[in-house]
Amino acid sequence: MERTLILIKPDGVARGLIGAIVARIEAKGYTIDALNLRTATAEELAAHYAEHEGKPFYQPLVDFMSEGPIVSIIASGEGVIPGFRSLAGATDPTSAAPGTIRGDLGRDWGEKVQKNLVHGSDSTESAEREIGIWYPA
Ligand code: GDP
Ligand code: MG
Repeated sequence: MERTLILIKPDGVARGLIGAIVARIEAKGYTIDALNLRTATAEELAAHYAEHEGKPFYQPLVDFMSEGPIVSIIASGEGVIPGFRSLAGATDPTSAAPGTIRGDLGRDWGEKVQKNLVHGSDSTESAEREIGIWYPA
């Protein structure tokens, strides 16, 4: 069964949105296979965001992701990788469509980084790589 790696970012945890976000994942029909709440290490974040190293938003992003606890989730279901990306909505909460997690709940105004509540793997390869980072065997 297809699986993906979802993160609820520190803004989602701090704003008390864990339940609301997990409810949307479950309501869609995906299965929660693993769920963990804790503060990420610098090593985990460097590995997770390696593809963005060198971009202007990289350091603000890593700093933001270190601000407080995050929830890492393995979810499974048919089409869950693109399906969760659809549920999450566009990267920028201001342009994310209503009905999506970022469109309904995301607030990034006045910020140096997009505090857009969630991460979802963007391909099978990313999903397996990211699951290995957050849930090492
Ligand atoms: P995602 O797959 O939709 O999460 O987006 P990306 O993989 O492109 O970027 C990773 C994360 O970096 C995003 O979720 C945002 O939190 C942040 N980010 C991406 N692009 C930008 C940008 O252009 N400006 C800022 N400030 N943050 C960004
Ligand atoms: Mg991405």
